[in-house]
Amino acid sequence: MSIETRNISKLYGKQRALDTVSLSVRKGELVGFLGPNGAGKSTMMKIITGYLPADSGEFLIHGEKVLPGDLAYKKDIGYLPEHNPLYPDLYIKEYLEITAGFYGLKNVKKRVAEMVELTGLGLEQHKKIRALSKGYRQRVGLAQALIHDPSILILDEPTTGLDPNQLEEIRHLIRTISREKTVILSSHIMQEVEAVCNRVIIINRGKIVADGSISEVKSGSLQQNQVVFAEFATPVGHESLLQIPGVQNALPNGNGWELEAASGADIRAAVFEFAVQNQLTLLTLHEKQKNLENVFHQLTQNKI
Ligand code: ADP
Ligand code: MG
Repeated sequence: MSIETRNISKLYGKQRALDTVSLSVRKGELVGFLGPNGAGKSTMMKIITGYLPADSGEFLIHGEKVLPGDLAYKKDIGYLPEHNPLYPDLYIKEYLEITAGFYGLKNVKKRVAEMVELTGLGLEQHKKIRALSKGYRQRVGLAQALIHDPSILILDEPTTGLDPNQLEEIRHLIRTISREKTVILSSHIMQEVEAVCNRVIIINRGKIVADGSISEVKSGSLQQNQVVFAEFATPVGHESLLQIPGVQNALPNGNGWELEAASGADIRAAVFEFAVQNQLTLLTLHEKQKNLENVFHQLTQNKI
C-alpha cells in the first residue's frame, strides 16, 4: 500500500470539509479523485502532501504512519497544486533550478534538462513563465512536481482551464509520467477520469461515496438504480410523477424528466401506463446508460 488515510476529518470553522475519509492507493495505481466543486478534494490533497494538518485521523505512506511535523516523507511526493502557483518573472529553467535546490539535488542542470525534455518544454525553455500559455505552465508545474523523482504524484485538477488540444497533450503526458508512479489525480470532470485513470474514488460533501475500478463503479456494484428519461408533450407536475409506482425521485432535465426507480425496479412500463391513463403524449422514453457521468450525478446531486 503506498498511500493510506484512515478516518481523516477536517473542519474549517464549523464547516466539515472532510468527514472520516479512509482511502488507500496501491503502488503503481493511477486513481481519479472525482467530486463536484467544494467536495473536499483539494483539502484532502493538501493533507496528504503535508500542507495542511488534519483535525483527526491517520495517514500512512508506504505503510508507515506520518506524524505531525514529519517532513521527511515529502521527498517521496510530487505535488501539483490546484492553481499551480508559479513565479511569472522567472525563466523556466531558473524556476526549476530553484525547485531542485529545495530538494538538495545534485547535478541540478542535468536534472532540469531531463525534466524539460520529459515534459516537452524544449522549444519554450528560454522563456519566462509569464510568456507561457496555460498548457505550458501546466508542463512547468508537472516538471516541478517530478524533479526529485518522487514515487507518488498528487495532481490537483491538472487539466482545468486548458483548451481541447492542450488537454489531450497534458493527459498524454500524465499517462506517460504515471507509468512508474503512484498517482492521485483530482477532477470534477467525469470524462477526464474515464480517459486517464483505471480506478476512481468519488467524494461528495467530504465523504467518499464510491471507490472501485471504473467498470465496477459503472456496472452498479453500488446498487445503482435505474434512471429513465421521459419527455411529455405537455407540462407534468413533479408530484404526479412521484405517484408512478416504483418512481422514487424525479428531476427536471431539459424538456423532460429524469425518473429514478426504487431499488431493483424497472419503471418503463409504469411510466408508459401513467401517460396513457393521464392522456399525456409521451415524446421520449428511454433508460439512461450507466456511464460514469450518470453515476457521478446520482451520487453527488445533493438531494435536499
Ligand atoms: P474541492 O477541491 O473538492 O473543490 P475544497 O477541498 O477546496 O474542495 O473545499 C472543501 C470545502 O471546504 C468547500 O466547501 C470550501 O469552501 C471549504 N474550504 C476550503 N478551503 C477553505 C478555507 N481555507 N477556509 C474555509 N473554508 C474552506
Ligand atoms: Mg479543489
